Parts: sequence; structure tokens; C-alpha cells
Amino acid sequence: IESHRLTDLALQQAKQAADQASLAKTRYVSTISHELRTPLNSIIGYAQLLDEDDTIPPHRKQAVSVIRRGGDHLLGLIEGTLDMARIESGKLALDVKPMRFTEGLDELARMFEQQAASKGIGFAYEPQGKLPPVVRADEKRLRQVLINVLGNAVKFTRAGQVTLRVSHRRDMAHIEVEDTGPGIAAADVERIFEPFARASEGAQGPIPGTGLGLTISKMLTDLMGGEMTVSSTPGQGCVFRMRLFLPAVRAEVAQRELTRPQRTGYLGPRQRILVVDNEEVDRELLRQVLVPLGFEVHTAASGHACLAVVAGVAPQAV
Ligand code: ADP
Repeated sequence: IESHRLTDLALQQAKQAADQASLAKTRYVSTISHELRTPLNSIIGYAQLLDEDDTIPPHRKQAVSVIRRGGDHLLGLIEGTLDMARIESGKLALDVKPMRFTEGLDELARMFEQQAASKGIGFAYEPQGKLPPVVRADEKRLRQVLINVLGNAVKFTRAGQVTLRVSHRRDMAHIEVEDTGPGIAAADVERIFEPFARASEGAQGPIPGTGLGLTISKMLTDLMGGEMTVSSTPGQGCVFRMRLFLPAVRAEVAQRELTRPQRTGYLGPRQRILVVDNEEVDRELLRQVLVPLGFEVHTAASGHACLAVVAGVAPQAV
């Protein structure tokens, strides 16, 4: 009994140490991602402003859109890293809104059609029956899951084709991605959803990847009130099946919620805003966004500077 107690104690201590290390890692990843995000937001913000600026000559527009795309891509990577940290600490919340479903699927299909064509394999999109034009979903997460599964299918298939089938019944979407690739050995089917799990190397040698995609995708489908399964005949290909809770949205509701009018100003007396930030670029960015909308913008570079001017400016918002 005594040695049992000691073993138990040691186990508890080891678990505590591991939990603490894991927490420290999650905090580190979150902090560094936030640090990267701040300057990136000014880059993307300015690129957006330049993109909408008619005085930019056409030959520079190209450069601006490269900056914008590069910025968006980086932001995506950073957010992916944050996702992992959030999922690990159980803090990820879905952002569910009306989303254009059929349009989004068409767009994805076109994107993968091109990818497949450039590899010399086929791609078929087979919507089954009538699909609702608008559903409630976290569009970004849904796309993330589909892009991962479709991306894998195209990546691992060397000949033949990838087929995407989608049907929708009683608020559930059934999505199937079938490929004619190498398939997954029975021993690996159980493991591929585990973090960093990658099937044993086949005859074709290593294929780049992190082994995190399916882990995140499966966690996300679970979060979305669904499930993801896979079946495979090694040598012939595999089928990934997803069942997702994506309730259809009625047309009039969709119409109302999906049209985003462009902001041009506001009614009523002019409002004063005091922008306080130690970064000049960020203060300027907000000024450039707010002034055209009719705000009177004042700035301060620190908390002390803010306190020194706030009474005189008497802003409606800080
Ligand atoms: P990655 O693709 O970055 O390695 P994933 O988590 O997306 O990470 O996939 C994990 C593993 O599952 C892959 O490395 C691969 O071995 C296997 N796998 C996933 N999709 C397929 C597929 N369509 N055909 C064959 N193997 C697959």
C-alpha cells in the first residue's frame, strides 16, 4: 500500500508538471502570435486603404494587392497557430452566421478543379439534390475543414480523380470526399486524426505536411455538432465522410443579414474621438479610417498624454 501511495504521488507530480509545461507553451504561442498580429494589422489596414485609393496609379495597384494578399496569408498562418493553442486550452468559440452555402461550395470546387488539373488528375463536384443557398455556419471553419480534406485528397492522389459529393437533409449537410489515391492502411486509419500522425511512408516517398490538418479538422467538425469518419481500401483510395449541423436559412432572413451596406457616414451632430496609441502608424490608420466618415479625430501617444488633453477635447469616445 505504501509503495502504491508513493507511485501515485509521483504520478500526480509528473502530471502537474506536464500540465504546467503545456500551459506555459500555450501562453507562449498566444503571446507571440498576438505580438506578430499587431504590426501585421497596420500593414493590412494600410494596404486596404491604398487598395481603395483611386489616386494610386494602375501599375502600383498590383504591388498593393501583393502586399494585401501576403498580409492576409500571414494573418491566416498566425491565426492557425492561435487556433491550435485555443483548441488545446478548450477556448475556441465558433462564429456562426448566415453563409452563402451553394456559392461557397462552387467556389471551393473551382479552386480544387484547378489544383487537380495542374496535377493531371480529375475533379468532380456532385451536389446531390437541392442544396440550401444559405445556411448558418462558421464559414471560416467550414472552409478550413473542407480545404484540408480536399487538399489531402488532391495531394495524395497521383492518378484518377477526386470527387466531392454534398447533400443536405433536415439541417444536416452530408459531405463526402472520395479519392483514387493510395488509401490508408487499416493500422493507420485509427491514428490519422491524432496530432502529428502521418501514415507510414509508401512507395512514393515522403509527401510534405505537418500531420496537424486532420486533427484540427476533426476537432472542428466535433465542435460544429458533427462528425468525421474515413474508410479506405488500401491501393484504391479513401472516402472521408462528414456530417455537419448546418441549418438552412430562410430567404428573407438571408437577404437581410447578408447585405452589408457600405459605410459612408452617420447622422446627427459630429462626434469627437480621441485615439490613444503609442504607435504612430496605428493612430494615423484610425484617423484615416474615421475622418472620412465625419468624425473629428484627436490623437495622443500615451496614457499620460491622453489624460493631459482629454478634458480639453471632451471626446464622445476614447
Ligand atoms: P498532413 O497532410 O499535413 O500530413 P493531415 O493531418 O491532414 O496532415 O493528414 C494526416 C495523414 O493522413 C497524412 O500524412 C496521410 O498519411 C494521411 N492521409 C490524409 N488524407 C489522405 C488521403 N486522402 N489519402 C491518403 N492518405 C491520407
